Amino acid sequence: MSILHNKVEVRVRLSAIRANYRLLCGFGSRVIGVIKADAYGHGLFEVAQALAQEGCDTFAIGTVEEGVALRQHLREAGIKARIIALLGPIDPEDYPPLWEHEIIPFVGSFRQLETLAGQAARAGKGLPVALKFDTGMARLGFVAEDMPRLIERLREAPLVRPVMVSSHLATADDPDAVGVVMGQAGKFEDMLSALDEAGFALEANLANSAGILAHQMLHHQSQRGGIALYGANPFAGTAWEHLGRGLVPAMEVRTKIVAVHALKKGQSISYGGSYTAERDMRVAIVAAGYADAYSRGLSGKAAQMLVGGRRVPQVGRVCMQLCACDVSEVPDVRPGDWAVLLGGSGALAISAEELASWWGTISYEIFCLLGMNRRVYV
Ligand SMILES: *Cc1c(COP(=O)(O)O)cnc(C)c1O
Repeated sequence: MSILHNKVEVRVRLSAIRANYRLLCGFGSRVIGVIKADAYGHGLFEVAQALAQEGCDTFAIGTVEEGVALRQHLREAGIKARIIALLGPIDPEDYPPLWEHEIIPFVGSFRQLETLAGQAARAGKGLPVALKFDTGMARLGFVAEDMPRLIERLREAPLVRPVMVSSHLATADDPDAVGVVMGQAGKFEDMLSALDEAGFALEANLANSAGILAHQMLHHQSQRGGIALYGANPFAGTAWEHLGRGLVPAMEVRTKIVAVHALKKGQSISYGGSYTAERDMRVAIVAAGYADAYSRGLSGKAAQMLVGGRRVPQVGRVCMQLCACDVSEVPDVRPGDWAVLLGGSGALAISAEELASWWGTISYEIFCLLGMNRRVYV
């Protein structure tokens, strides 16, 4: 629930998320719905429920706390599903809920493994876990050299029950980095073989959205799909752009126009007077600013929004709760009208990738940040 009492409205189309999920499932194997960070700003519970209706039986969230919130919601909704915590347990208090709320943690360090083994032995209760391997992200996970010791420790701690093994691709969305992807895939295969020889035959997953769409040969028993569920094209602006064409954007963001007035030639607008009218114009003052996650970094970047069904340029510096756009070409704009910041219908719709390019970021961040505003489901 948003703590912002503002005019920004995030409209989420769950039917688009469901269609994107079906598209990813069309590649063959199980798709784990990645719904960490409040489902990339689209709403943890709402998205989980929509995906469950499409048959999704495994969800990946980030922290154990997110997993607990999701489990409580799924229980109330009568939905049975596996919940995987991608960050694994971090603090001591993250461990007990794994048993209590049936959360499968990513385990990527001996420190985590030993703590789990100790707690499992004390409680006399087994725990399914997912083994996390680092094959190139250099972020989290066991590395190749850890394999002998890992296998030994797993044998000594039978209550820690691996059910899944995962690794994460660093460059799956980059057509120029296929070699890096294949290098990671090869390392992952080697680690899987070592586990297999030791008698651990596990569900494996490596592919993220880009991996699902571009690297079918890297598909294992399951894949972890995130950004594609929300309709952003992981290959936007690359030679592989066509691979993401079938995805349908799920998020639209709009807000209210507060005032409309003339800006005379030579007059400046907003802090610093960084924008000066080159001709007589009319501007709309819009109820969105950096406090609403409409970044100040959009100032002076030729960012656009939709007013009255037309593209209009944002002008002057973005303030805390306001910004401005040039509506000289749009007839009959009035206070109370909508300004669309993301999405919209038809060919003029503002894509997440486009907004991200003005913003200097990626669609993921656009969704996570703008999604913190008040959401409605349409
Ligand atoms: C976020 C995340 C994903 C999903 O990646 P997308 O690019 O959004 O599909 C998959 N695996 C892990 C470990 C992640 O953290």
